[in-house]
Amino acid sequence: MAIIANYDLEEKVAVIDRDRYVRGFRDVATFEQCCRECPNYGNRWGCPPFDHDTLSDLVRYEKVMIVGAKITPHDRRMPMEQVYDLMRPELERLNSRLLELEREAQGMAFGFVGKCERCGNAPCARREGKPCRHPDVVRPSLEAYGFNVSKTASELLGIDMVWSSDSTVPRYLTLVCALFYNGDDLQW
Ligand code: SF4
Repeated sequence: MAIIANYDLEEKVAVIDRDRYVRGFRDVATFEQCCRECPNYGNRWGCPPFDHDTLSDLVRYEKVMIVGAKITPHDRRMPMEQVYDLMRPELERLNSRLLELEREAQGMAFGFVGKCERCGNAPCARREGKPCRHPDVVRPSLEAYGFNVSKTASELLGIDMVWSSDSTVPRYLTLVCALFYNGDDLQW
């Protein structure tokens, strides 16, 4: 039986010079402060604090591919508890393509680790001071490295992010991921 998606999808891709992206869209002090208020701070391997200067990771690359997915649910009153079920197919699709391109370009990918579900209900290994159980697929988010994702979405992808004011999912969800890389242009 065919599975019919319960949402509409719009995808946008932009490529920007790394130096321009870091200078214009990164504010570590502000976003690290937001991360400190999140329960994942220090408790997930994709989240800050990191044990090294994160800028040193970024300056190895010349370009950044930014990919955004705008997911508009058909059900305008979908309860917030269903938000991950709504996003999951696109999260998985984007992560999978991102990691494929990361391998191809020998780049560095930024995904959506906030609520990492790879270990199911088991606590993240970081809580026990142990290495990530799935380092092949877990990547930090752009926020975790201090990038302003809302500004990235609006200025580079033309998507204004929206939030919910009640217990239903917003009008649409915006997922933003990225790949830092060198060399020839890549085909998303
Ligand atoms: S895969 Fe597991 S160990 Fe790795 S960040 Fe996610 S929850 Fe933590």
